[in-house]
Amino acid sequence: MNPDDIDFDKGGGLIAAVVQDAATLQVLMLAYMDRAALDETLESGEATFFSRSRGGRWRKGETSGDRLKVVSVTPDCDGDAVLVRVEPVGNACHLNRVSCFGDADAPGLGRLARLEQTIRDRSDADPSESWTAKLLASGPKRIAQKVGEEGVETALAGAAGDEAELASEAADLIYHLLVLLRSRDMSLQDVLDVLESRA
Ligand code: AMP
Ligand code: ZN
Ligand code: ZN
Ligand code: ZN
Repeated sequence: MNPDDIDFDKGGGLIAAVVQDAATLQVLMLAYMDRAALDETLESGEATFFSRSRGGRWRKGETSGDRLKVVSVTPDCDGDAVLVRVEPVGNACHLNRVSCFGDADAPGLGRLARLEQTIRDRSDADPSESWTAKLLASGPKRIAQKVGEEGVETALAGAAGDEAELASEAADLIYHLLVLLRSRDMSLQDVLDVLESRA
């Protein structure tokens, strides 16, 4: 994006910046930027704002360490606000919540992206301490077999019409499927790309 396209005059020199987790799509926080903060955000790759309470430059995480690594910055329709997609390092909210808007963690479908991140984090864990690490260490063939088993269990629960059992088996299936993708160095995004191409 070109910062020259942004209209700072309308808001007395400030624009609103909506900050969103690029992976889970969770809305994390809302803050304000002046031109200098937008320039610094684009140049440094770290979300930087204008603090209205302190009246000056505010690089998020400077004191807390909870930084926001910028993935993209997109202006809105009339150029007086930006959407900042980020990869957060720690909590965006200073009250130690993932989001300022109260959700303790990614809600809804964001849970799938969070689960994928958790599985990725467990790749380096000690197999004696993490079930996921143990599963990954068993290799893609063994994991594929588990996916097959969970698929059959899901199908049986679906055929029987037991809702609680179906939800539980479907959760098992999704978890093992994500582990299988991980073991083949693939991601949920590869699957989403196929779905999008079919839409
Ligand atoms: P930080 O930028 O995380 O090092 O925090 C520095 C200060 O900025 C905090 O003490 C808060 O006053 C303020 N702050 C940090 N994160 C937020 C936020 N998400 N919303 C409002 N104020 C914040
Ligand atoms: Zn607007
Ligand atoms: Zn907050
Ligand atoms: Zn199962």
